[in-house]
Amino acid sequence: MNSGKTTPEPMRDVALGPLFQTAAAHALRYRSHVAEAPQRPSRDFMAMLATFAAPLPETGAEGPAIIDQLARDAEPGLHAMTGPRFFGWVIGASHPVGVAADWLTSAWGQNTGNHVATPAAAAVEAVAAGWLLDLLDLPRECSVGFVTGATVANFVGLAAARHEVLRRAGWDVEAQGLFGAPPISVMIGDDAHTTVFSALQFLGLGHDRVIRVATDAAGRMRADAFRDAIAPLSGPIIVICQAGQINTGAFDPFAEIIALARAKGAWVHVDGAFGLWARAEPELKGQTGGIEQADSWATDGHKWLQTPYDCGYAIVRHPEAHRRAMTIAASYLPPAQAGERDPSHYVPELSRRARGFATYAIIRHLGRQGIAAMVARHCRVARIIAARVVAEPGIAVLHEVTLNQMLLRFGGDGAGADDLTRRTIARLQADGICFAGGAAWRGSQVMRLSVISWYTTEAEAEIAADAIIAAWRAVKAGANFRDWER
Ligand SMILES: *Cc1c(COP(=O)(O)O)cnc(C)c1O
Repeated sequence: MNSGKTTPEPMRDVALGPLFQTAAAHALRYRSHVAEAPQRPSRDFMAMLATFAAPLPETGAEGPAIIDQLARDAEPGLHAMTGPRFFGWVIGASHPVGVAADWLTSAWGQNTGNHVATPAAAAVEAVAAGWLLDLLDLPRECSVGFVTGATVANFVGLAAARHEVLRRAGWDVEAQGLFGAPPISVMIGDDAHTTVFSALQFLGLGHDRVIRVATDAAGRMRADAFRDAIAPLSGPIIVICQAGQINTGAFDPFAEIIALARAKGAWVHVDGAFGLWARAEPELKGQTGGIEQADSWATDGHKWLQTPYDCGYAIVRHPEAHRRAMTIAASYLPPAQAGERDPSHYVPELSRRARGFATYAIIRHLGRQGIAAMVARHCRVARIIAARVVAEPGIAVLHEVTLNQMLLRFGGDGAGADDLTRRTIARLQADGICFAGGAAWRGSQVMRLSVISWYTTEAEAEIAADAIIAAWRAVKAGANFRDWER
């Protein structure tokens, strides 16, 4: 690989063709075969470490050869997240149109801090932001920050919340910090996503210093419990709701909660990492009723919208609070005038990737109707899988499947069900026909499925259901555990 030329020079005539074409050929080959390949990696982390481990190279090597080797070495350790039967965690499938736009994003190399530096990237973001508000039917006056994902979108929304509730209490938190500030009451459902607690931790609000509100069987905040919890509170309050519980897909009762919160002058933030996209589908939208009354929302591009990783959106009803929480003006940065928009004003970073291009390209490609059809299809697929597997003795679906998420349990109510469920997950993963992971829910081991890949169709639902049933039957039959239990 290293033919004596050891220190590559910066040259205008560096052979871009072979380099970019090598990468494109690998991408094409990988994406063309991922549907047939096992829906799991064939090598684990330790094996991958062994593959890549090497001393720091003293000398250089040719670009295309490095790309060849990288593809060859990495592929056994890749998970089929872009496959049609990958149901692990909650992971979108990097739509090819988004991938192509993302390649251009890399090639163009735009630092997307402000609109003077990169008019195209800033303008596309401004347009895509408007499209997102339209798709999700949120107040059109909202500001939108393009971030890495819902974790940071939650952070941004809660930073705006922290700013505003303290400003109303006469405190400038950006200037003075939290030392000596009026205390903020933070209310959150018992089944909120862990990353919201991370956001609270980053903001100095504390992940334990919260008022946890009891939830129902599907993980929704109970409105009666919320009413009791907020009644004695006064002063600055932040309420955190959820659209799309990670296990069940359930939505908080937004209308009731937000009305109670409003009466106390609270800021309401919604974690809608994937669930907010129910608003893009007319029949599912009803489940989110009242959500548009909130003050801020976090959602992902890289889950239901299928943008390549990484991409999330922080949406705030009060652009002034959003900007003040995120920006500190610097003299060398040109100020934005009315109608202009600096991408960095709405996110924690100054320098960052031009995430707007992939968002723009995917929305442009699918359109409102294509996105609605995809969301509807995923929910239909979830219902098909649930209906198929529940007909098999010993498999239970633990909740009504109202969105794209689903919990399964194997082996009835007996003491052995945790173990049988764990074994069924291991068996399913070893078979590699589809991938689902495990989770703990209400103290029990469950199999969790998230139907959110662009490639998943009704036909894949049948294959996946058959694979789950086959894995369970194999476990029940006590077949040769040792072969796959490692
Ligand atoms: C995925 C998820 C998050 C975190 O989002 P990232 O994109 O991983 O940062 C937060 N909340 C919910 C409900 C999620 O599903």
